[in-house]
Amino acid sequence: PVPGLGPDLDEARKCLAQVFGFPGFRGVQDQVVARALAGRSTLAVMPTGAGKSLTYQLPAVMLEGTCVVVSPLIALMHDQLRSATANGIRAAALTSVDTDREVTIDRFRAGELDLLYVAPERASQPHFRELLSKAPLSLFAIDEAHCVSEWGHDFRPDYRLMRPLMDAFPQVPRLALTATADRHTRADILEQLGIPADGLIVAGFDRPNIQYRIAPRDNPQRQILRFIADNPGPGVVYAPTRAQVEKLAEQLGAQLGAEGRRVLPYHAGLPAHVRAANQEAFVSSEDMVIVATVAFGMGIDKPDVRFVAHAGLPKSIEGYYQETGRAGRDGDPSVALMLWGADDFARARQRLAEVDETRRQGERTRLDALAGLVETTACRRAVLLRHFGENPPATCGNCDNCLEPPALTDATELARKLLSAVYRTGQSYGLGHLEKVLTGQADERVRARGHDELSVFGIVGPDQAPLLKALSRALLARGTLTATEHGGLALAGDARAILKGEQTVELALPPVRERGGSKRRGK
Ligand code: ADP
Ligand code: ZN
Repeated sequence: PVPGLGPDLDEARKCLAQVFGFPGFRGVQDQVVARALAGRSTLAVMPTGAGKSLTYQLPAVMLEGTCVVVSPLIALMHDQLRSATANGIRAAALTSVDTDREVTIDRFRAGELDLLYVAPERASQPHFRELLSKAPLSLFAIDEAHCVSEWGHDFRPDYRLMRPLMDAFPQVPRLALTATADRHTRADILEQLGIPADGLIVAGFDRPNIQYRIAPRDNPQRQILRFIADNPGPGVVYAPTRAQVEKLAEQLGAQLGAEGRRVLPYHAGLPAHVRAANQEAFVSSEDMVIVATVAFGMGIDKPDVRFVAHAGLPKSIEGYYQETGRAGRDGDPSVALMLWGADDFARARQRLAEVDETRRQGERTRLDALAGLVETTACRRAVLLRHFGENPPATCGNCDNCLEPPALTDATELARKLLSAVYRTGQSYGLGHLEKVLTGQADERVRARGHDELSVFGIVGPDQAPLLKALSRALLARGTLTATEHGGLALAGDARAILKGEQTVELALPPVRERGGSKRRGK
């Protein structure tokens, strides 16, 4: 290649076909590759499945010298190493579990490596910097680059040490890659990794073949069974904890097994061989259901996943997008169902208090964004895409709210009654007690506390009483109410504004209908 100019895109296309066997670039891949070949630094934000690895592997093959790839997970690194090696690319990894480190170092120094994978802990050590000075480098690729930002959902302090390392090699271009950065995080990544603002390339985030559905959880086992019955293909059910994975896998297995459909669990607590076997069974199956923690899915190449269900609230919109994004990579119709409960939000808000100060604001913003997605009565896809900085149409026609628009009720009056009752009873009682007070049921406890004397006693009539539960759930979700340590409700957020009549509350009431995935095939 001509020094300073680098090989051009035509040559890159030839290499794409010869080395990777692909007929052409997808989406923004060519832009990203062109920048790397031209020696310019880039932050590429591309959704899962968009083909991020290719954007550094291809330049690594074409350019003189070695491309150093920083990646946070050893398992992920080895997956990529395997596929690179399978394509005939000269690649190796330096991690604590690689026993051939001496060989790798020799190969690197002899200029025999296109790709050198390394974990950030190792990359930040002084002798690694010294090693890098011993042979020419083509590119720094920083995978999962959101780990460098405290605004990201997976901050890794070691990522902060990449900047000084890369600064020691100023002539080597940088390519940061992530699937999951909102606007705030992107700006931070650019800054933290020393990439110019004009180096940002963002791929479209829309996955039009995925139908988004979000519903309150009342009977998760029944709701998920119905959802699975509606969706015959292979699918993933995410549960928040290992124990819940085990339990749900057993319950679903008992029901679905009778119909000849396999259900297997997957979480980090299972022995490695069981995990590997269950994953293998899933990848080769056409109708299996895998119940898993979010540990499942990374690096798994299964294009025909037909559904993803969340039995509990995901950690963030980024996480939700990534996990649901494992459905429908083949482009065929797929459905994502999320079940949530007010207790999910209550727990998440309680956890906020334990997070250290520097990260709390970021976590809170993330939780609010998630509440916004869950609560919206408008298009889910629009909320998602706006979160990723896009400017989508107001409706998509392929989410629950677009397909079955919820009837909106102005619940401001009822909300004010509930909030007053919370306030007048001292912000320490649960919904059960508040319901009794509001609907005028003077049981022993109500009388003992003198709550039958309050102005809010009996101010909610029988027609409105059934709505209180859904209302409190929604108010918890939007942070107007918070749960106290002992399960009581307290005012928070915009509660005072609502009480003062400065703010209205619109809700999808009466109690949000249960939504399965049955409308999907109307497509
Ligand atoms: P990401 O890391 O962005 O989630 P991967 O790098 O794992 O995505 O790529 C996802 C899948 O797309 C892989 O199976 C990969 O081989 C395939 N792929 C990547 N680029 C292309 C391309 N230009 N044409 C066809 N398939 C591609
Ligand atoms: Zn929609």
